[in-house]
Amino acid sequence: MRRESQSSAKPGVPADSARKPKVPKKKEAAYLSNPLYDRLLAPYAEDNRLLIERPDGSRLSYAETIGLSGRLANALAALGAAAGDRIAVQVEKSPEALAVYFAAVRLGAVFLPLNTAYTPAEVGYFVADAQPKVLLCDSAKAGDLRAIAAKVPAQLATMDRDGGGSLTAAAATAPTAFETMARRPDDLAAILYTSGTTGRSKGAMLTQENLLSNALTLTALWRFTAADVLLHVLPIFHTHGLFVATNVVLAAGGAMIFLPKFELEGVLAALPRATAMMGVPTFYTRLLASEAFTGETTARMRLFTSGSAPLPAETHVAFEARTGHRILERYGMTETNMSTSNPYCGARKAGTVGLPLPDVDLRIVDLASGASVAQGEVGVIEVKGPNVFKGYWRMPEKTREGFRPDGYFISGDLARRDEDGYVAIVGRARDLIISGGFNVYPKEVEEVLDALPGVLESAVVGIPHPDFGEGVVAFVVPEKGAAPAEEALIAALAQKLARFKQPKRIFFLEALPRNAMGKVQKNQLRKAKADLFRSQL
Ligand code: AMP
Repeated sequence: MRRESQSSAKPGVPADSARKPKVPKKKEAAYLSNPLYDRLLAPYAEDNRLLIERPDGSRLSYAETIGLSGRLANALAALGAAAGDRIAVQVEKSPEALAVYFAAVRLGAVFLPLNTAYTPAEVGYFVADAQPKVLLCDSAKAGDLRAIAAKVPAQLATMDRDGGGSLTAAAATAPTAFETMARRPDDLAAILYTSGTTGRSKGAMLTQENLLSNALTLTALWRFTAADVLLHVLPIFHTHGLFVATNVVLAAGGAMIFLPKFELEGVLAALPRATAMMGVPTFYTRLLASEAFTGETTARMRLFTSGSAPLPAETHVAFEARTGHRILERYGMTETNMSTSNPYCGARKAGTVGLPLPDVDLRIVDLASGASVAQGEVGVIEVKGPNVFKGYWRMPEKTREGFRPDGYFISGDLARRDEDGYVAIVGRARDLIISGGFNVYPKEVEEVLDALPGVLESAVVGIPHPDFGEGVVAFVVPEKGAAPAEEALIAALAQKLARFKQPKRIFFLEALPRNAMGKVQKNQLRKAKADLFRSQL
């Protein structure tokens, strides 16, 4: 149910008792009627300060953006979307696309963003799995997605970055007022599909509390205030750009310079006006590759954060040498939101992802036995706290497998803790190579390789091998103008690594295959050389 006007109703206050959530008495005091809306949006409903600046310099205030979210919520409701329904969205990044997330929150619906790179066949899988009420896409994709939507059936609607699209048009004539639906803290706010490099992609169910608790924790930890201007360059179909970046800015009452994607010139032009940037490691390596990126460019900045993929320690060091800023690296995943962070004040240690967040319980355990490992030993990270998701959408078996009986989520990331408790990630458990019965952590081999002359970066994987189970194989991207030879690199590694860790073969690539978040797609590398040792099998 929705109302056309909220003139007499306070936002977030349910208008009838049927919609009143049933919350346990003791929680009532802390309970908000739609926690995300009430904390992140409602306080600014009449606030004319800047929220989003577009690349062309045009600006949207908080009040305008919230008004737009009301229009969109009305337009989505007119398509039949209601509380609990999934709204699948595959559109280019824009402030309007972000306002669809806010509209979904206000509807009490479940926001389901999809990577813009997904093909119609891939979208078909997500749509069939999630059964959304609405599938929103760019007009250019509507032809391909119409049949997919019809199968559910879902309403197909469009939104284009240039202002076109059926939902955009419907929103333009819809009222800004929308009575936000009541939600409980453990109601779903979003489903984000994991990138799923092996097997089927799983829908991580994220609750209102998951998102809000993490946003508030990070806002405090990273000292975000209303004076902050975040340079927002990340995609908004992924937890990093959608939740970490956006929710933190909203919680603080700050502003965003909203760029559609990382383009060096645009980033360099915007940086002098920003106070903070959240990035993936490739942003930082690309900035460092430009001579135009100097300490002057970052004079107003107070914080650079990095995550979603490992930040090479040498990038951390080179960045500080160039700008005087120590990048603050943090760690998280779709299922858990953020779990650790280097401190804002205090040592930001290169090559580590810092300490567990204040409200997050993190332990490192032996994957097989579940027993905690000693400090310095490698084990798998397990996490418990308000940040941890509710489970995988319609996959109870996978959900059960993902959690320990005492409620800890098994992240699948291997890590060790140093003497100060800082966590250093050594890689995904599934990327661990077992060669001749010995564990080989790819990161260790990659670090040694990367330090060799002529090597820009590398990726190390295990390939099935008749004698060893898996054979270590490396892929190397040479530095510009360099042409390192395979035998010479193998010989150099022999000086530094135990024999079982040494790659049996090294292949050269122009670039490593990476996804939109800068993560190296090791499954592609493994696939490309799956038969390498086959003749010996
Ligand atoms: P996603 O669910 O796409 O956010 O991917 C989460 C995964 O990215 C984690 O499980 C880690 O393997 C990896 N990851 C995230 N942050 C970091 C980091 N700072 N260092 C190393 N790996 C990271």
